[in-house]
Amino acid sequence: MQTIYTDLLCIGAGLAGERVAVEAAMAGFNVICLSIVPPRRSHSSAAQGGMQAALGNAVMGKGDSPDVHFADTVKGSDWGCDQEVARIFADTAPIVMREMAHWGVPWNRVVAGTHTYYKGGKPFEAEEAADKHGLIHARAFGGTAKWRTCYTADGTGRSVLNTLDTKCLQYGVEIHDRTQAEALIHDGERCLGAIVRCLKTGELRAYLAKATLIATGGYGRIYRATTNAIICDGGGQIIALDTGLVPMGNMEAVQFHPTGTVPTDILVTEGCRGDGGTLLDVNEYRFMPDYEPEKAELASRDVVSRRMIEHIRKGFGVQSPYGEHLWLDIRHLGVKHITTKLREVYDICTNFLGVDPIHQLIPVRPTHHYSMGGVRVDKTGAAYGLKGLFSAGESACWDMHGFNRLGGNSLAETVVAGSYIGKQVAQFLKGYEVDFKSSAIRDAEAKIAERIKNITTSAKGRENCFQLRNEMQDVMMEHVGIFRNGKDLQAGVDKLQALYERSMNIGLQAPTKGFTPEMSMALRVPGMLKLALCTAYGALQRTESRGAHTREDYPERNDRDWLNRTLAYWKDGDTLPTLKYEEASPYYELPPGDRGYGGGKIIPAELPAEKFVVPGKSAPTEAPSEAPAAKPAKSEKKK
Ligand SMILES: Cc1cc2nc3c(=O)[nH]c(=O)nc-3n(C[C@H](O)[C@H](O)[C@H](O)COP(=O)(O)OP(=O)(O)OC[C@H]3O[C@@H](n4cnc5c(N)ncnc54)[C@H](O)[C@@H]3O)c2cc1C
Repeated sequence: MQTIYTDLLCIGAGLAGERVAVEAAMAGFNVICLSIVPPRRSHSSAAQGGMQAALGNAVMGKGDSPDVHFADTVKGSDWGCDQEVARIFADTAPIVMREMAHWGVPWNRVVAGTHTYYKGGKPFEAEEAADKHGLIHARAFGGTAKWRTCYTADGTGRSVLNTLDTKCLQYGVEIHDRTQAEALIHDGERCLGAIVRCLKTGELRAYLAKATLIATGGYGRIYRATTNAIICDGGGQIIALDTGLVPMGNMEAVQFHPTGTVPTDILVTEGCRGDGGTLLDVNEYRFMPDYEPEKAELASRDVVSRRMIEHIRKGFGVQSPYGEHLWLDIRHLGVKHITTKLREVYDICTNFLGVDPIHQLIPVRPTHHYSMGGVRVDKTGAAYGLKGLFSAGESACWDMHGFNRLGGNSLAETVVAGSYIGKQVAQFLKGYEVDFKSSAIRDAEAKIAERIKNITTSAKGRENCFQLRNEMQDVMMEHVGIFRNGKDLQAGVDKLQALYERSMNIGLQAPTKGFTPEMSMALRVPGMLKLALCTAYGALQRTESRGAHTREDYPERNDRDWLNRTLAYWKDGDTLPTLKYEEASPYYELPPGDRGYGGGKIIPAELPAEKFVVPGKSAPTEAPSEAPAAKPAKSEKKK
């Protein structure tokens, strides 16, 4: 087996992986990035809308600051986030956005003078200031008090990823694409790298590294209808969970985006609603203001998605051969706006739906979109359970998102966390030496080689991996969707457990040596089922409604009992995760209260006064509205 040494191994070369890689390479360390696909094809390139940073250049962003951004993020998370991390994020985002401009990202810029903008389908005029002319512009996104989503037309992810990939070349970061990490190498205490499969030859290689980063994006493909690319199968989360030592955080926190298109599930950006698009029902009636008078279409995603399903359930959905949907209307924005600032939306609609959005309505429905959960890390990005293992981006539960991430906060998280965690990784590497124990390498290789042998020879059976994957995706859609309840969740968990047991008997339908796409799927499916079980079981045990986790049988947000984060561990031989719980946040700069949208009752917590002591600050920035203080959240509550 070929063995390759490096200081830092980044598993994943999307925005988060490449940003950490650049930071470590700038500090003088050798870095290798692995990727299933060429890095510029990573899923980050699909992000259209933009990234949030409180720059306050646009007239509609006037008065914005990291404090306002912090408050929006915490409310968006429904108080599920780690406020220390949200604070680091909000404070760092403007610096990183300007740095990205310096590195070459062609942000849309403020043009001084009077402009016509739209809110809720209605035009209004606003004057961009002369002294802001040429500075980074921003658009509106859901759940924000100010316009702060920086953008490059609607190809933001692509232009930022191209820029970072160029930086990787400049600093000598090695990119090994068409390689897939299959297992972490570890000695029970330290992470020593990964066993990786070459997707061209099918051969296994050992990558030995002093530090290893998981930046493999989300696990959206455990659902049937998702906006995620097919490579978003949770590969990084799976290898971390497989160690039995590293927990996943808040896997039940899964976001559905209001405007997945029908029938392709391709996303049209939140920028459509931000720029003034409206949601209409079967009668072409704009229903959102009836549910959310204040924010309407620009409430947070969990809220808008729920309202859409509620409205469809009341009989106002549009019937189609692909199921019921609603309409997104951007016609009033006109030709110029749609073919420039929403150009990709125009292309998606015309190429895939046969719809001309300048003249026609776009069929949309809530579609799975984002994984708030992932590899649980501390504020430095270090994974729980194994020294030398880090995670950043959507694969991680750094936890600035809690139970609902705000639109534009994820792309920003990739580069902000990438910059911040990259510095922590560089600091960790300074003077760090490690003994690459050959027994640890042999164990990890033997585990994967054995699995490949069983699958190739069908030694344990001949279950079809694609069939199991499809059944899992259907269970997740049916049982672990937007509205959840105990009975359905229990049925979902039972079905997933049965599928997981069958997945131990996967055999190739067409046995061949070397690389086959079927082998990749066969190796991945048992792990995807573990992630699905962490999600479904975590949702079953969490008997409250918070952010995107809505329990019809427990409609209140329960700060008294559930102001905490789920940690899911997987022990060898088990068919269910072991769940533990930790406090959601070390302190509450913004005390738990009402989000200002979405409605719903809150069971208040009684937190001790010391929970409100923020280092460097004397008092909370905002008084608690409904939920005052006293009892600490339970730690380590075993279910
Ligand atoms: C359609 C769409 C639009 C979006 N638009 C926005 C937006 O406008 N604003 C916003 O804030 N957020 C947006 N998001 C979310 C945001 O784009 C993602 O959260 C973010 O880009 C994730 O970046 P990442 O670097 O963590 O992972 P990714 O970009 O997904 O990169 C993951 C990397 O890991 C590699 N990889 C995966 N598994 C393995 C493995 N086992 N071995 C080796 N390599 C592996 C992949 O090849 C890839 O290089 C959008 C998401 C979608 C789906």
